[in-house]
Amino acid sequence: MRRTLWFLLRLGLVIALAVWVAQRPGTIRLDWQGYIIQTEVGVVALALLALGVVAYALVRLVLLVWRSPRRLGAGRRTSRRTRGYQALSQGLLAVAAGDGPAATRLATKAEGLLNEPALTLLLSAQAAQLAGDEALAATHFTAMRERGAMLKRPDMAFVGLRGLALQALAAGDTQGALALVREAGALRPKARWPLVTQLDLQARAGDWTAASATLDALTSVKALPADTLRRHRAAVLVERSRAAEAGGALDQALSLARKAHDLEPGSVPAAVQAARLLAGTGSARAATRALEQAWRLTPHPTLAVAWGRAGEKAGDAADPLARVKRLEALVALDPSVPEAHVALANAATEARLWGLARGHLTRALTARPSARVYRLLAAVALAEHGPGAEERGHLASAAKAPPDPAWVCGTCGGVNAAWGALCSHCGGFDTLVWRVPGGTAPGGTAKGADAETMGFLPPPEPPAGDGTGGGLARLSARLPSFPLGGTLGGTLGGLLPGKRSPGAS
Ligand SMILES: [Zn+2]
Repeated sequence: MRRTLWFLLRLGLVIALAVWVAQRPGTIRLDWQGYIIQTEVGVVALALLALGVVAYALVRLVLLVWRSPRRLGAGRRTSRRTRGYQALSQGLLAVAAGDGPAATRLATKAEGLLNEPALTLLLSAQAAQLAGDEALAATHFTAMRERGAMLKRPDMAFVGLRGLALQALAAGDTQGALALVREAGALRPKARWPLVTQLDLQARAGDWTAASATLDALTSVKALPADTLRRHRAAVLVERSRAAEAGGALDQALSLARKAHDLEPGSVPAAVQAARLLAGTGSARAATRALEQAWRLTPHPTLAVAWGRAGEKAGDAADPLARVKRLEALVALDPSVPEAHVALANAATEARLWGLARGHLTRALTARPSARVYRLLAAVALAEHGPGAEERGHLASAAKAPPDPAWVCGTCGGVNAAWGALCSHCGGFDTLVWRVPGGTAPGGTAKGADAETMGFLPPPEPPAGDGTGGGLARLSARLPSFPLGGTLGGTLGGLLPGKRSPGAS
């Protein structure tokens, strides 16, 4: 519309000019070197117009010829970029499809066509890993790390460092991995992956003080849910307390254990550790209070055993009758808890009070059948009457009864004899859950549910594999997947060594 108006306006102007010239007739005379040209004004105006049109056309032609090589070059560059990005996207698809040779070919092609080192190097590294060439992948990751630093591109350097760190983990070089993870963390202090990996590595190395500092950093960037952080913190505090106790620093050990208990009052290891140290200082009542607090949240057999011993002085011979008395108080707290009856029956067996022991074991069985309780009944029968039908009957029931809960690793499914912040099978940090191995935990009452999670450990996860390499599977699972394809985490399954025994329990 506007173009049409503009055209009409210009046409009007030309017509007006023509009319204006036509209304003012006259001649123009040119006398030059003996030539005389004489003509009408209108003819001259027309000739000038024609000359202008020809000159304009000539200038356009010259410009077109002048600019054409540059235009051709720009077209070629655009086409190169298009082909480069095409190769890149096809390469990513090849990586995702697990097609190593195609990924390698497309990576080389993209690298030749594009000036996008972050993307092409990453694709090349992933292609090399797919082809099983870790050394070549390392070269690409190192190039990313160095060029990222040179080009002031922390994102690129970060991805390179992450690739190198995962390679170091896969190769079992935990020290090297820790250094790389720290470097990556310095580039992006708020990123979750470096801190979580650092915590895992420090825990696996038993460096609890460093793990504490990492937990502080994780807390400040809110990288993990608050309850997970609290649970991890309590686990680290219990391990620090155990280490301090082993080193003879009892005051420090007690202070750390109390911190853990205050942080997670339902935590069995924290309460037991705090109670044992409190009892050692002669504060039997404070010890019992800590155990009671945990017991009400988590009626765990270890708490009952600690409760029975809370009043004993170190070095004195244990008084079985005094234990029976103390455990009767525990039963009185909540007679519906089977574990209290089992603990009391154990103490009664030590005191050779067979009838009392049998009575409480039978009461424990009314809550749910338990192989452990049947075995205890068999032991009582054996001690009281010697081998016979009664003992055999209990043992047969034990064989048929469902298994009892234990400290099961939520990652590898391995059963640990005692709680430790590290799984004794896979070395995973803070993975132990009190539940029935293999199957599902006995549910039902709120207390039963508490006993499964202990208020200390993560909810049960399905056991992964046969107990080997679970730590890495877990570590890999914790790492956010690689931005492109995610094969780095995926190819590492079952490669991380670092099986460590948990701390003394
Ligand atoms: Zn494990």
